Amino acid sequence: MKLATIRTSHGTRAVRVEEEGYVDLGAADVGELLALDDWSDRASADGDRVQGDLAPVVPRPGKIICVGLNYAPHIREMGRELPEHPTLFAKFTEALIGPHDPVQLPAVSEALDWEAELALVIGRPVRHADEEAASAAIAGFTVCNDVTIRDWQYRTKQWLQGKTFEATTPLGPFLVTPDELPGGTRPELAIRTIVGGEKMQEADTSELVFDPVALVTYASTILTLQPGDVIITGTPGGVGHARKPPRYLRDGDVLVTEIDGLGRCENPVVRA
Ligand code: ZN
Repeated sequence: MKLATIRTSHGTRAVRVEEEGYVDLGAADVGELLALDDWSDRASADGDRVQGDLAPVVPRPGKIICVGLNYAPHIREMGRELPEHPTLFAKFTEALIGPHDPVQLPAVSEALDWEAELALVIGRPVRHADEEAASAAIAGFTVCNDVTIRDWQYRTKQWLQGKTFEATTPLGPFLVTPDELPGGTRPELAIRTIVGGEKMQEADTSELVFDPVALVTYASTILTLQPGDVIITGTPGGVGHARKPPRYLRDGDVLVTEIDGLGRCENPVVRA
């Protein structure tokens, strides 16, 4: 099943994505849908056809937990050792944009960089999860680009300020349920970033050091994960900052982020 949040003239709606179009699921967005105990039944039910353009698949997650340094080649390109524990940080909802919305290049930076990432979305409350509970708590997966303002990320040891600039982070286009994916809740999917037609990152989500089930287990040790919460699982090698010379996103670039089976985000970069 593919679910999305669309913008209509009456506000946002949660929809099921079918070849013929969008089916209204009776909730304002995918986050609100996932908060219903019977969301899976509702998501497969009939409904009215609706039209609109794609919003972030979960527009206002209660939490966006981000994972740094989770693909071995990217860890090496950033000059670090393989980690014993996941590196976690956060993003706020103001950072999110839809799969075709402009990425805002802030006036205060020339170092806007890409980070293609597999995102998982939580479908039921979960705390102290074992592997089975963690797997069952994953509603599905989507595409994210953890677009990063590198010069602000490295102003201090804490990365937050470079990670949550307004309107920088595409999330979408759809939430795809694990039953549709090779590997299920540990999906094995090719992931890539393309800028100006040039492939900048390419890897496979099976190369994650901490896979989605492990990340839900780990994060749920810290706090309760709630329906609609998002965990973005880290980026592979090939970020612009690690290139020689560095290559950052410029006004007028088009940032394409895609994961086979999950779809693609295609976002123009515009100076804010
Ligand atoms: Zn990242």
